[in-house]
Amino acid sequence: MFSKILIANRGEIAVRVIKTCRRLGIATVVVYSDADAGSLAVEMADETVHIGPSPAAQSYLVADKIIGACKQTGAQAIHPGFGFLSENASFAQRCADEGIVFIGPNPGAIQAMGDKIESKKFAAQAGVSCVPGHIGEIADTAEAVKISEQIGYPVMIKASAGGGGKGIRVAWTRQDVEEGFPAVRAEAKASFGDDRIFIEKFIESPRHIEIQVLGDKHGNVVHLFERECSIQRRNQKVIEEAPSPLLDEATRAAMGAQAVALAKAVNYDSAGTVEFVAGQDKSFFFLEMNTRLQVEHPVTELITGLDLVEQMIRSAWGETLAFEQKDLKINGWAIESRIYAEDPYRKFLPSIGRLVRYDPPSEGEKDGYTVRNDAGVREGDEISMFYDPMISKLCTWAPTRSAAIDGMGRALEDFHIEGLGQNIPFLAAVMDQERFRSGKISTNYIKDEFPEGFTGGDPTPTQLDILTAVGAAMQRVYAARARS
Ligand code: ADP
Ligand code: ADP
Ligand code: MG
Repeated sequence: MFSKILIANRGEIAVRVIKTCRRLGIATVVVYSDADAGSLAVEMADETVHIGPSPAAQSYLVADKIIGACKQTGAQAIHPGFGFLSENASFAQRCADEGIVFIGPNPGAIQAMGDKIESKKFAAQAGVSCVPGHIGEIADTAEAVKISEQIGYPVMIKASAGGGGKGIRVAWTRQDVEEGFPAVRAEAKASFGDDRIFIEKFIESPRHIEIQVLGDKHGNVVHLFERECSIQRRNQKVIEEAPSPLLDEATRAAMGAQAVALAKAVNYDSAGTVEFVAGQDKSFFFLEMNTRLQVEHPVTELITGLDLVEQMIRSAWGETLAFEQKDLKINGWAIESRIYAEDPYRKFLPSIGRLVRYDPPSEGEKDGYTVRNDAGVREGDEISMFYDPMISKLCTWAPTRSAAIDGMGRALEDFHIEGLGQNIPFLAAVMDQERFRSGKISTNYIKDEFPEGFTGGDPTPTQLDILTAVGAAMQRVYAARARS
């Protein structure tokens, strides 16, 4: 097994990888920018290497600096986390050329799947059901209009290199395409340095359901069931769960088989995710494959008992998967809430600043549910403008979905953050909603349920109890004063 691994990332995911390395007896090296000099990951790592100024383009994204840090410390392998260099095929290839193991899939698989147009071609060949549309580049607005009319409105205009909900736009009419095509192209050029655009059918009120896959270097691939990530804002995930309340055994098996077939078609040899949109009728269509650890991987870990970072490290070392599909089972239900530094009362505007108070619920089992909180911050730390404003990922697990939701409601109530705006009140309001509890969700959920934005929820039963108790106590004080 590796004796030293370098983590080319920051924040909660760097901390997450360190925890697994410690358990496996592997030493860790963390690289850091100016802004992260005093971070929790830096404190926890066995060794650290400063790699430059705060902007990622001058630190976490500079391959030379990461490779240099490996050479300097003698780290044998790099875990890229997510974002940054995690889906960069030339970086993975560069690692191989330098004799460093990239803890992720082989460069060929990243290349094939990193691009939405290319990946759809592979998917179609592997027998995966794709969203109807035009799998190929589109030259200009006139062609975009022609293709949109062939597909039939509404359509989605998408950047082939897109990610993080960027470079996506829905068009309901010809005029939307005329305006949207150049806009998406410009955004794609600016954000990804790649302006190839394609168009597909926009599936209305769909659900986002994705399959976690895991492969080794010996041709074995299994799937670790699904996650449902339909609670999204601006095409970005906010609340995720596993399993999905929509799926039955047959649909789960069919989606799993397609995801495994696609992974095998590109010799996939690590952890990855095959994303689908699904209709309420359980029809499903391939969206894209993410060739990395996913932000929401903890919910899969909670229902399978597997550590995905450990599995990635074992596969990268060359071990054969220790289990087959038939050995895997879903146990209970898990939910993840992404706690973001954004102000739900002000249209979710990013709210950076210092965590004057950071007091998360305690982790572990309690009252029939289990809490896990993946964070990379401590009280007093700063959420800076340089990186993703995620504060932590709060997960709960319980034997049933409703118990996991109840647990999440409690855990959110027990989470205290002061000093900046955060979305905990919003997440708590969703946990209380009958529609969420019933599982009748779609990617339109937030738009449907909060058409005017978030204005504050009704008090939860526990909050009502507290208010009642405070009211009763005050009444006694006033009565006593009146008597004296
Ligand atoms: P996911 O499906 O894991 O939420 P997306 O596909 O929405 O991720 O993310 C698009 C890109 O943004 C990916 O490269 C992903 O690694 C990165 N990303 C998403 N969330 C974060 C985060 N909180 N911190 C850093 N990078 C992130
Ligand atoms: P990204 O790389 O940004 O994650 P995706 O292709 O995965 O891009 O799309 C992000 C989200 O946008 C999906 O989770 C889904 O909610 C929505 N979406 C994408 N494609 C479609 C589509 N064809 N029809 C309906 N919704 C879609
Ligand atoms: Mg996606």
